[in-house]
Order: sequence, then C-alpha cells, then structure tokens
Amino acid sequence: MAKKATKKAAKKPAKKAAKKPAKKSAVKAAKTSAAKKAKPAAKKAVRRAAKPISLHPLIDKGVFRKAAPKFAGGTLTCLCASDPVTVSVASQSAHNHACGCSKCWKPEGAVFSIVAVVPRDSIKVTANEDKLAIVDSSATIQRHACKGCGAHLFGRIENGKHGFFGLDFIHTELSKDKGWSPPEFAAFVSSIIEQGFDPAQMGAVRSRLKKVGLQPYDCLSPPLMDYLASHAAKLSGVRTA
Ligand SMILES: [Zn+2]
Ligand SMILES: [Zn+2]
Repeated sequence: MAKKATKKAAKKPAKKAAKKPAKKSAVKAAKTSAAKKAKPAAKKAVRRAAKPISLHPLIDKGVFRKAAPKFAGGTLTCLCASDPVTVSVASQSAHNHACGCSKCWKPEGAVFSIVAVVPRDSIKVTANEDKLAIVDSSATIQRHACKGCGAHLFGRIENGKHGFFGLDFIHTELSKDKGWSPPEFAAFVSSIIEQGFDPAQMGAVRSRLKKVGLQPYDCLSPPLMDYLASHAAKLSGVRTA
C-alpha cells in the first residue's frame, strides 16, 4: 500500500519520465521531464527522429543505387516461389519515383510504391504469362498482375490519346539486375491518407522523403505535369507545337 502511494506521488510531475527511469541517466530524465512540461510537442519530435517512419524498404534504407551508365534493361520476376512470371525489359527505366496512390503495387507493409516507365515495346513476357491478369480494365493504366503473388509486372495505357501512351509502368525492385535508374521524386503523397494513413504524420512523411532526396508532390512532378498539359493543349488545338 505504502509503495503504491509513493509510486503515485512520483508519477504526478511527469508520467512518462517516471515510467522508464532505469534506461535514462538522471540528467537526461530530468531534461526530458522539463522538456515535456514546457513543450509536449518537442518530445514527440525526438521520438520520431529516433525511429524513422517506415515508407518502403528502399526509402527506409535512405540511399539509392545509382543508374549504371550503359544499363539497357533486365528481367522482372514476380514473387511466386514456383513458376514465377518473368518479363524482360529491353530498356533503362525513366521517371522512377515513389507513388502514394492506391493503385500502384507496393511490397507488403509499404506505404509507397516505387514505379518507373519504359517504352511499351521494350516489354516482353518471357515465362508463365497465363498467371497474369489485368487488375482493373477500366483504369487508365491497365496493371498486369500475377494471380499468384499479386505483384504487378507491368502497367499499360491502351488509350492512344493519353499523354503517356507508349510508356509502360514497371517496378524495378522486381528485378535482380543492378543499374536501373533510381527514384527521383515522390508523387501523390497526400493520397496515402485516403488509404488510412494518419494525416498528423504527413509532416514527418514529407520530411523523410526530402531527407532521402525525393521531393514530395501531391500530383506528379512539374516536368511530368507540364508534359501532360502540353499534350492536352495539342489535342485540343490550343497549341500546335
Ligand atoms: Zn507471382
Ligand atoms: Zn501510383
């Protein structure tokens, strides 16, 4: 009983600081306690910095492998342990980026997808094509996914009028070949909230992305948005060149 009363008294000034006294030095504990009293947000920031937010295994690593100068493509393999679908890609990737949309394939537990484009005619399914099915045939990008493991092998735009027609979307992390172009920016960042991500954590997400060199955007990057807008302007006749 007496013990309980003491504990309760100790708890009063700073609940959390009193909880883990053994791990921290007295000075540190006092500091934390003082900081907590003065500014509760400061402690939160410290906790976040200690354990970076997990976004995607490659982003979490924090360093991306550089593109190999003469890299001319490789093989994508789905995640099935047996009879995997393989796709040969006869091109280096371009515009590789992290994507927060709900449609791009992400590895288990990832918040972001990492997706790039290659010319459509550089893609060739080389094994187990019968395992592929289109996820949503009404979507702009028809994502050809493995029915076994769910990985998307390539996404294709069939609408000839679309600005990205002629480009297929691929996930270079499905390839063991080294030399693919690394991700350059992060697109549709705010969309992760639509999939259940805590809006209060978005500041931490954006600063994490910036820290690893991926400028966050809530649509595509300015060059790609300009490209799409120019294409639309040409289609409507507003611009001729
Ligand atoms: Zn598979
Ligand atoms: Zn996406």
